[in-house]
Amino acid sequence: MVVARRIRVRGVVQGVGFRPFVFRLAQRLKLRGWVRNDGHGVDIHVEGEQQAFDAFVAALANQAPAAARVTDVAVEEADVEGWPHFAIQESLSHTRPTVWLPADTAVCDDCLEELFDPYDRRYLYPYINCTVCGPRYTVMERLPYDRPNTTMKQWPMCPACEQEYRDAANRRFHAQPNACPACGPRYVLHRQGEKVEDNVKAVARAARLLKDGLIVAVKGLGGYHLACDAANAVAVRRLRQRKGRPDKPFAVMVKDVETARRVVELAAEEERLLTSPARPIVLARARRVLPGVAPDNGDLGVMLPSTPLQHLLFYHGAPPVLVMTSGNRSGEPIAYEDEDALMRLADVCDAWLLGERPIARRVDDSVCRVTVFGSTFLRRARGAAPLPVAELPTAQPILAVGADLKNTVTLVVDGRAVMSQHLGDLEQYEAFVAFAQTVQDLLAMYRVPQEELTVVVDGHPDFHSVRFGRQLTARRHMAVQHHQAHVAAVLAERHAWQRRVVGVAFDGTGYGDDGSIWGGEWFVGSLREGLTRCGHLRPALLPGGDAAAKMPLQALAGFLAEGGAWAKEAGRRLGFPERFFIALSMAEKRIRTFPTTSMGRLFDAAAALLGFTGPITFEGQAAIWLEHRARLERPRKVYPFPWDEERGVLDYRPLLMAMIEDRLKGEAVEVMARAFHRSVAEALFQSVRRLCAAHGVDTLVLSGGVFQNALLLSDVRERFADSGIDVWLPRQVPVNDGGVSLGQAAIAAAHLAREVQ
Ligand SMILES: [Zn+2]
Ligand SMILES: [Zn+2]
Ligand SMILES: [Zn+2]
Repeated sequence: MVVARRIRVRGVVQGVGFRPFVFRLAQRLKLRGWVRNDGHGVDIHVEGEQQAFDAFVAALANQAPAAARVTDVAVEEADVEGWPHFAIQESLSHTRPTVWLPADTAVCDDCLEELFDPYDRRYLYPYINCTVCGPRYTVMERLPYDRPNTTMKQWPMCPACEQEYRDAANRRFHAQPNACPACGPRYVLHRQGEKVEDNVKAVARAARLLKDGLIVAVKGLGGYHLACDAANAVAVRRLRQRKGRPDKPFAVMVKDVETARRVVELAAEEERLLTSPARPIVLARARRVLPGVAPDNGDLGVMLPSTPLQHLLFYHGAPPVLVMTSGNRSGEPIAYEDEDALMRLADVCDAWLLGERPIARRVDDSVCRVTVFGSTFLRRARGAAPLPVAELPTAQPILAVGADLKNTVTLVVDGRAVMSQHLGDLEQYEAFVAFAQTVQDLLAMYRVPQEELTVVVDGHPDFHSVRFGRQLTARRHMAVQHHQAHVAAVLAERHAWQRRVVGVAFDGTGYGDDGSIWGGEWFVGSLREGLTRCGHLRPALLPGGDAAAKMPLQALAGFLAEGGAWAKEAGRRLGFPERFFIALSMAEKRIRTFPTTSMGRLFDAAAALLGFTGPITFEGQAAIWLEHRARLERPRKVYPFPWDEERGVLDYRPLLMAMIEDRLKGEAVEVMARAFHRSVAEALFQSVRRLCAAHGVDTLVLSGGVFQNALLLSDVRERFADSGIDVWLPRQVPVNDGGVSLGQAAIAAAHLAREVQ
């Protein structure tokens, strides 16, 4: 007997080869009907034998293409319409799409094989791709994901490509960015007075220039990279000078996994991340010192080639380890438009390898790291964004605009939280423009009318994101405290709605409910009932406020200010520069000083105390310096760092006093740096152990930028082993401010849910 069914599949099912998969499956099982994309996912009508139908439904979820993520398969009875065969139909545009935008994926092995096959018509063609690999989010202009809605619309397919595109048996069946040398976009090399327009020659020329020690701007999936030979110290120094980036580590791209193993120590999990379809930058222990690439840092960020073009550069003889850094000047966002790249990078690079395929939106490289708590994102972007990161129990659309540093935004549609790519520091004009565009972009893609939105912003009165969010016409506006959002993000991604936890945020800067700068905060509660602050670092007086974040010595003066004459004497005996004493007297007289409970600043202060007395040129530099020193030593001692249980205050004064005494005794900097990390972990343990007992809680949530410190994490893990307390860190979203937008959205969703009840 012939039956008919309507099946709706939801999840990441567009742009991942899902319709061709359904088509082939239906043909194999001799089912008739059709499949099409709509705004919600994939819609299927099948007719045939019951038995074949059962096998079909089972396979939909079990045998889906690798890049697909099926979240829901809904089956309904339908009328038999007598379809003669199975077909792929035109996509339907829907009033409000809730299909999940697919992320970009690295070129697949099948395409690579063709790329290097001299008899293939795409031999050495830098834009090769297929149904399961290639650009997605970076070429998509609107939904549904079909060629006219991508930046490939200006290249009509040649008959050969068209045939592949229409042939269900072909692996380019409905591959939207399908192209070949005859019909597709090209790469062109530009250098003063020189223009190479042939695909193969242009890439070969770029590889040669890299070999000769020049800096080449190379167009990638989500923007331009600046590339140079990582083993050429002169080239690296020149890149630093021109880019205006004196110290911040560069990431490198290595030819293959074997080369990666020579450059960094790779554990199995790190290798898995490195070779995953997202191809992120993986931070790992450096094995080989590449002068100037990552100064004062034990780690090195490494990635593999992900686009065909990058593979071709190595094939044509580019050095096996290339610096691959965002194509921008320091602090600015990555350039992604050709005109912009030609203009902005004119003083930075020696040549451009321009690609003709436009980039729909800029997306940086993702950065991942494996810690003792598992793998995590430090920056969530290419290959990961804009996939959903959590489900929230709300039917109302929510837009959370994040924090101003390492900004991301989160849009919640139908209870799914979609997080944008990393957008950067909104203080930078271009980053702010990208931020505003991304908000409009996501709202437009998902067709969410502003008037229906709940817009969530940080508690900081002067954030750019806050001003932007407040200006949106929305159903309602909410503000969420920065560190509550940090903790909430972790609970949200674990769908821990009711679980009561102790949450600790160790962070650089965040606006506190009392108007002071927070950053060492203890909370207790749950997403459902809300989080209440139950402890903090003893406040210090920060001379110069935010300026102290750039000047660790100034932070140290703030933390020592209560010491009066004693602090001055210690500073003199340790030979601190004049700046310390000026800052100290500012703090004593309370001139332009701001109270802070920031743990990030305490790390800066400790670094200054141990010899990092200059200014920092990138966020976290002093803490990274301190961690690097500490890693050179085994743990030998712990400094006193007492938790006052009654008042919920962690007192840093005994800690700093003990460190000063040690320094005056001539103790080695490495030993002290190691002991400092140990002491923070110990203090965390002692405070949390008591809070857990007092509140009957057995889960600890850790979040905030300070927990990017891998050594601190391993000390924490060791200390909490056998404690009966589960320690949770974020996995899907960054532990730093990149995760804040998800936390904001979660707290807003909880708030809305409480109102409904
Ligand atoms: Zn492929
Ligand atoms: Zn073609
Ligand atoms: Zn933060």
